[in-house]
Amino acid sequence: MPERQKKSVSRKAILTLENQSSDARPDGLAIVTQALQALEVLSRLELAGGAPANSVALRRKLEGVCHAFVDGRIGIFAKTPSGANWVNQFPGSTSTSDLDAAFRTGVNSFIAAMRSAGATVSIGTTLRPVERAYLMHYSWRIAKKEIDPANVPALAGVDIEWVHGTLAASRQAAQDMVDGYQIVAKPAYPTKHSDGTAIDMTISWTGTLAIVDNNGTSTSITTTPRTGMNTDLAVVGATYAVIKATFSGDPPHWSDDGH
Ligand SMILES: [Zn+2]
Repeated sequence: MPERQKKSVSRKAILTLENQSSDARPDGLAIVTQALQALEVLSRLELAGGAPANSVALRRKLEGVCHAFVDGRIGIFAKTPSGANWVNQFPGSTSTSDLDAAFRTGVNSFIAAMRSAGATVSIGTTLRPVERAYLMHYSWRIAKKEIDPANVPALAGVDIEWVHGTLAASRQAAQDMVDGYQIVAKPAYPTKHSDGTAIDMTISWTGTLAIVDNNGTSTSITTTPRTGMNTDLAVVGATYAVIKATFSGDPPHWSDDGH
């Protein structure tokens, strides 16, 4: 076999493999079969003394694919690499109608009371599917170097591959997700948002807030800050069974028990 022809055989096998790898959910078995075939071609070329100049690198790459299969990082269906494309999957809700029924009643009444008192209430997240909570939590922790991407536990139904070719690439892909989600603080996982018993709200008002609590009693809030962090407002919220977060670092968070 003339050398030029040998090279093109090998290159074709590699190209087929690379094209397959770029699919969202390629068949892992097909990938590994092709990697093994390409390795065989490479071995034959090496024996014949006609291996391409980059044969060592090619061999390493192909063997890497085989190892990934053995390690379970490529399954019968390969996982989808982490990255910004995950952000619009498992969408969250900003509607109170997606909240747990028992919690929802109090939330709607509390928001109505704040608004009729002249406060501005902007609703962030209400329901956050467990899959989204998982993706947000671990993308943050990988990006912040809190966890090795290889150590992230799996979640059924989320076929994400957190591990890229290098640690830097894994962290960058995670950071792309953090940016896409617009995360500013470490998202809790598990979270009450996944049960529909938590809501994030940004609240503000000017002057005195004369608000009616769930017992029909009007309270004049003159204290500051004039935001959802106001402790007098938290007392009013509690009458509606909407409890201000008892932990720090998550200003907009309220839930049915403060968690
Ligand atoms: Zn929250």
